Amino acid sequence: MLLLERLFSMPKVPFNKPSLVGNEIKYIRDAVSLGQLAGDGTYTERCQNTISQLCGGGKTLITHSCTAALEMAAILCDLGPGDEVIMPSFTFVSTANAVALRGATPVFVDIDPVSLCLDPSKVRHAITSQTRAIVAVHYAGFPAGVDQLAKIAKEHGLFLIEDAAQALGSQFQGRPSGSFGDLAAFSFHETKNVISGEGGALVINNPTMWERAEIIREKGTNRSQFFRGQVDKYTWVDIGSSFLPGELIAAYLAAQLEVEPAIRARRLSVFDAYQDAFSPFEDRGQVVLPQDVPDCIGNGHMFYFLMRSQTERQTFILEMKARGIGTPFHYVPLHSAPAGRRYAKTHGSLAVTNRVSDTLVRLPMFYDLGSDIETVIAAAIEVLDSNWSSSWTGSAPLMPRKPVPSSASVNRPGL
Ligand SMILES: *Cc1c(COP(=O)(O)O)cnc(C)c1O
Repeated sequence: MLLLERLFSMPKVPFNKPSLVGNEIKYIRDAVSLGQLAGDGTYTERCQNTISQLCGGGKTLITHSCTAALEMAAILCDLGPGDEVIMPSFTFVSTANAVALRGATPVFVDIDPVSLCLDPSKVRHAITSQTRAIVAVHYAGFPAGVDQLAKIAKEHGLFLIEDAAQALGSQFQGRPSGSFGDLAAFSFHETKNVISGEGGALVINNPTMWERAEIIREKGTNRSQFFRGQVDKYTWVDIGSSFLPGELIAAYLAAQLEVEPAIRARRLSVFDAYQDAFSPFEDRGQVVLPQDVPDCIGNGHMFYFLMRSQTERQTFILEMKARGIGTPFHYVPLHSAPAGRRYAKTHGSLAVTNRVSDTLVRLPMFYDLGSDIETVIAAAIEVLDSNWSSSWTGSAPLMPRKPVPSSASVNRPGL
C-alpha cells in the first residue's frame, strides 16, 4: 500500500535525474581494490588531466564542490575586509558566499537581457578603488561577454574568476569556458552535466597562484610537495582547509568525464527539440526562449524560457506539477535575500535581474530524459494553450528574439 502511494506521488518526469553513463561502478570497484580511499590518488589525477584538457590546459585541482573551488579562489585572490568583488545577483549563493566568508563585499551588477550573464557595460561603472575582482557567472553554460570582462579586469588590474559551475564543455569564440579567468570554478553536483553527486574543480590559469592553490586545498600544508619529494617533511605553511574529494568520488567522476562529449551532445539535442517545440509560442509573444548568445557555443546545460509575468509563471509551474512534471524557477536574486542585504551591496538598477527571476522557468533536462521529452512538451503546450485565451494586459515580454506578430492567431504547423 505504502509502495503504491509512493508510486502515485512520484513525478512522471522529474526536473533532474542522475544517471550512470559508463564505467562508474567499475572504477569505484577498482578504486576500492587499489586501497587508497583518501584523495589525490590515481582517479583524482585522471580527472584533473581530463578537466585540464577540456578547459584549455590550465592546471586543475578537483574539489568536493564548486562552492569549495570558489572559496579557494577567494583565498587565492587575498580578499579581505574592505575589498569589493563585482558579480551578478542572478546566481547561486556560493558565488557571493565565498567572498563574504573572507569579510569582503559582493557588489551586485545587473545582467544582460540576452545572455542573462553579467553585463560588461555595467561592470565598468561599478569599479571603485576597492574593487579587487570580477566573477563572471556563465549562466546556463554560456560564457557570454567573457572577453570583455577579461579586458576590463586587465585594464583595472583586477582578478577575473569564472564561476563556470554550469559551463563544462561550452565555448566562446572557439575557446573553452574555464580558459579566460585567473581562476575558474566548476561543479559536478548531480544537477550539472557531468556529475559525481557532490564535486567540483578549480582551474588555475594564473601561474603565480598554482603553488599556493595546492597548499590551500591540503589544509594549508605543503603535503603535496612532500609526496613529490620536494620537501623532506610537511608542515603548516598557509591558511587552508580540506577541499579535496576522496578517490571514490573521483572514480565516479572519471567515468563521467571520459564521455563528456556524448553527454553534451545528448543534452544539446534536448535543447534543440525544446527550442523547436516552443518557437510558435515565442512567435505569438507568450514566452521568450533562450536567445543566440553572440560568439558562444552552449553545452546544453539548461533549457529555460521567460514568461510574461510572475503570476503566469506560477500558474505554469503548478499546472505542470499537477501533470507530474518538475519545472522549477530560480534564482531568488541575492540582493533581495536576507544575507545579501547584510553582506553585499548593489550597483545601479537590477531591473533585468528582477524581471528574469520573476518570470524564468526551467524544463526537465538530464541524460536519460529520452522519450519523456514528448510528455514534457505535450504537457507544456497544453498548459500554455489553456492560459493563452485569457487576454494579456501586462507589459511586453523581455527582448523577444523574433518580431511578435500583431495578431494573436498564429500559424502553428505540427502542433
Ligand atoms: C551549482 C552552482 C554552484 C555550486 O556548485 P556546488 O558544486 O553545488 O557547490 C555555484 N555557482 C553556480 C552558478 C552554480 O550553478
